[in-house]
Amino acid sequence: MADNNAVSFQKVSKNYHNIEALKEISFNVEKGSFFGLLGPNGAGKSTLINAMSGLVTPTSGEIFVNGSHTIRDYRQARKSLGLVPQELISDPFFSIKELLRIQSGYFGLKGKQQQNWTDELLERLSLADKRNAITNELSGGMKRRVLIAMALVHKPEVIVLDEPTAGVDVDLRKTLWEFTKELHQQGHTIILTTHYLEEAEALCEKVAILQNGELKALERVTDLVSKHAFRYVRVSLVANEQNNDYNQLDKNLKERVDSHSATEIVFKIEKELSLNKFSQWLSICKFKIKDISTRDATLEEAFLDLTGAKK
Ligand code: ADP
Repeated sequence: MADNNAVSFQKVSKNYHNIEALKEISFNVEKGSFFGLLGPNGAGKSTLINAMSGLVTPTSGEIFVNGSHTIRDYRQARKSLGLVPQELISDPFFSIKELLRIQSGYFGLKGKQQQNWTDELLERLSLADKRNAITNELSGGMKRRVLIAMALVHKPEVIVLDEPTAGVDVDLRKTLWEFTKELHQQGHTIILTTHYLEEAEALCEKVAILQNGELKALERVTDLVSKHAFRYVRVSLVANEQNNDYNQLDKNLKERVDSHSATEIVFKIEKELSLNKFSQWLSICKFKIKDISTRDATLEEAFLDLTGAKK
């Protein structure tokens, strides 16, 4: 199957007894893209990722990784994929260096060239001076780096990161972002699941949003945000002004308040509502205003509206 897709999901369903974890999911991830897989807890993201890497067998439907069927052509599909899971199962016997050697062996890779590549990975992930450490002696951040190194030993075309920055400190988060961007620039396809919508907005070109096992949206991030039916107007108020009594807001405005404090009110207004109309309502309540600015929704706001989830 020669096409431009790194991954192709075709009517993928997965049932666990009476739970439909995935319901006929179909979409493609284009080669070389930076793709986000988003959704609230229990949406089916892990099930989809595990099905992609052959760890879960779909109840029906098919998945192709780099053109190879994940079940009929498992070895080839697995070779094209590097999965960075959330947790490293600590091993009391093996050092980082040995784990990477074993992982390389799994893919039939050895010799000087492979050694150079694993050395480079250790270097890039700041693990070089820990190469002889046993994994259950490592901190959480170190374990995360080992997981990434293990996923990359075979230079897979498609790299899947499952919540890579969950629970990591700011420094490691930054390192991971930079390293992932670099891999993307080198031509790898990156698929990322994350709870941090800000992260998805900063990194991903396109996202799939899953909810209750269904595909809710498949869009470029910029389209998802610009199609969102609302914009946000931030009104900064002069501090300590008697006129700025929130309770005297016009009814039309009150029902459009997104958040408010003593010195700021943020309104969420329909894009089709004219700003003239909005200004008229605002002028009625005689607030002492310092500044007004408008902005489009963030990915997080568009996501919350789409999924009906709460902030
Ligand atoms: P997410 O990763 O988006 O949080 P999951 O794929 O983990 O979602 O879960 C989707 C649904 O499938 C949930 O209702 C979850 O409880 C269920 N599920 C996942 N794995 C199993 C399993 N091994 N056995 C039974 N139910 C499962």
